[in-house]
Amino acid sequence: MPLMSVYIHIPFCVRKCLYCDFLSFPLCGERGKDGGFSCGMAAADDSQSGCGNGNGDKGLLTIDADKTVPAYIDALKSEIREKASSYPDRTIGSIFFGGGTPSVINGKYIKEIIDELKKYWQIAGDAELTLEVNPGTADGDKFRIWKEAGVNRLSIGLQSVHDEELKLLGRIHTYDDFIKCYQGALRNGFDNINIDLMSGLPGQKVSDWTDTLETVLNLDTQPRHISAYSLIIEDGTVFGDVYGENESEPSLTPDGYDDLRKKTRALSSVQLPSEDEDREMYHLTSKVLSEKGYKRYEISNYAMEGYECRHNLVYWNRKDYLGLGLGASSCMDNVRWKNSADLNQYISDAKHDMYEIENLSAEDRIFECIMLGFRLTKGIDLYAFKTEFGEDFEVRFNDRIRRFTKEGLISVKDGHAALTERGLDVADYVILEFLR
Ligand code: SF4
Repeated sequence: MPLMSVYIHIPFCVRKCLYCDFLSFPLCGERGKDGGFSCGMAAADDSQSGCGNGNGDKGLLTIDADKTVPAYIDALKSEIREKASSYPDRTIGSIFFGGGTPSVINGKYIKEIIDELKKYWQIAGDAELTLEVNPGTADGDKFRIWKEAGVNRLSIGLQSVHDEELKLLGRIHTYDDFIKCYQGALRNGFDNINIDLMSGLPGQKVSDWTDTLETVLNLDTQPRHISAYSLIIEDGTVFGDVYGENESEPSLTPDGYDDLRKKTRALSSVQLPSEDEDREMYHLTSKVLSEKGYKRYEISNYAMEGYECRHNLVYWNRKDYLGLGLGASSCMDNVRWKNSADLNQYISDAKHDMYEIENLSAEDRIFECIMLGFRLTKGIDLYAFKTEFGEDFEVRFNDRIRRFTKEGLISVKDGHAALTERGLDVADYVILEFLR
């Protein structure tokens, strides 16, 4: 049976990070209750939300965990049942619980969702099952339940080893919390772990970023995978208000946000790194990680041999994936759509309507093939291109291949067209020239 991947969106967090525009909401309630989320700062901060939450309510939607989380899980299960009737003959090759913070909800819900998927689809014996975890939201019981449920890969959001930087980002955790989380994961048998890191943070110097990389690489057990992204300033977030270029309406609603306002004022005095510093950090990342045995396989992703994230490779290689949950995107049989991004609507809509449905034409797919394929260090598979589109990549893009090969930005070998090390530095520019 043909393979597909499944993405499950869990749109809840302890509170909203100041740079975040993901579809996620701060929880309140369920604190300390049978494996639900626990955090020490809910009262002061969890009303903050600069999120683009898709509800047309720019300011705030704080979630009552005791009521909304079980209702959301029920809605997810009903969506699984409904989508199973549309795509019955599939085998699941990978599952990815993302968010939000999937680790914030009671571990039993993760198991229930996996069990529900198993009722309708076969899960491949070697399937990769990833769960995103934030330090401070996972404990021994949760690790155990996830493991028993079949989760075999964790992706831990650390971002920085410096507490001061974590605080500026509005993260809920310290570096010590990360260490406890990482050790707990290892103790419970998770050896396939990704760590998310972020450079270009307010006030960050190149030496701070070097320190973050080296500290993580010197952990007793090296993580198998590292995702290293640069901070992006998004509109509609607190960072967008402070650092954004667009004159935007402040993302804070008028009342009840004194603490956030204080943070915003505090941030205004901390500058982002210069463009040169940012580039230096970017170059340092691939140098330091390759010296420690990681292979860069995508612009921002590094793995030890055999530990590339198979789920993300499905996106980059444009294979079929089914997104379940609030605002999730899917692409199956060259049809793409999105789920509702309105939490109340998602929970109450038994039919789970699909939005922004697009039938991808061959030209759309060529566009995506270039956008995504050049992100991979392996590049675009020329044989697969010819098989899918009936034309030669090298013939169609002859002029640009010649030009960029001459400039040392592209190389064509072993049946692939790929960006060189220098090409990756200017990937956006090269990709745009191909899409012209
Ligand atoms: S934990 Fe992740 S999803 Fe949640 S607010 Fe922070 S960055 Fe956003």
